[in-house]
Amino acid sequence: MAKAERNIGFEALYKTLRRRFGFLNWWPGETKDEIIIGAILTQNTNWKNVEKAICNLKYEKLLDLESIAVINAGKLERLIRPSGFYRQKAARLMDFARYAMQGYGGVDGFFKKGTQELRKELLGLNGIGKETADSIILYAAGKPIFVIDAYTRRILNRMWGIPYNAEYDDLRFLVEQEIRKDVDLYKDFHAQLVELAKRHCRKEPCCSECPVNKMCSYGSYMQKLRERDSPLEQAWSA
Ligand code: SF4
Repeated sequence: MAKAERNIGFEALYKTLRRRFGFLNWWPGETKDEIIIGAILTQNTNWKNVEKAICNLKYEKLLDLESIAVINAGKLERLIRPSGFYRQKAARLMDFARYAMQGYGGVDGFFKKGTQELRKELLGLNGIGKETADSIILYAAGKPIFVIDAYTRRILNRMWGIPYNAEYDDLRFLVEQEIRKDVDLYKDFHAQLVELAKRHCRKEPCCSECPVNKMCSYGSYMQKLRERDSPLEQAWSA
């Protein structure tokens, strides 16, 4: 995707969402380790399933990388089973934990690296793709990088016709070049998009109640269709 020559409208989108939903700025997790574990467990599943797995780890007092680095693989698989793909995810968690503990003595040492260096290293780890790496960098390491997820792709596609399958880094760049580089702002904007997708921009979108329907291509198109088909409009054209 070529560099955008004009503003897409992310700032207006963010401001409108912020007015509607308030300041969100989340990632469900109390510690850096918990955020990392959640970011790996949430791959290909929904958060409710992740919560069950996290609850199991918390109950066993194993919700930290130091414990996961030395845990028995079978035990970890059993505890995270609710999150799906549990064998694969157990291996990923253990690889990550051992890498961070043995190489840096924990994530604080690991996160001392610059953003790009850290990202490169994360992407070299077992099962860590761009979305997971960027979630870890933004929410656990507290460094400014924008996370692109399936919700973001869906919204950008419907609002501005940006191809759903566009390259991850092209989409990230589109957002980052318009939104001020700020960790809390990136966290909050991402959270706002997730909220929009959950409340309105679902698989079957609910455009009439959506706070950004006036700036959305799909929403405006649907509005025109509704007006065309309304009884009043039909009476006018009769
Ligand atoms: S107007 Fe409809 S398609 Fe556009 S963002 Fe809102 S819910 Fe999604």
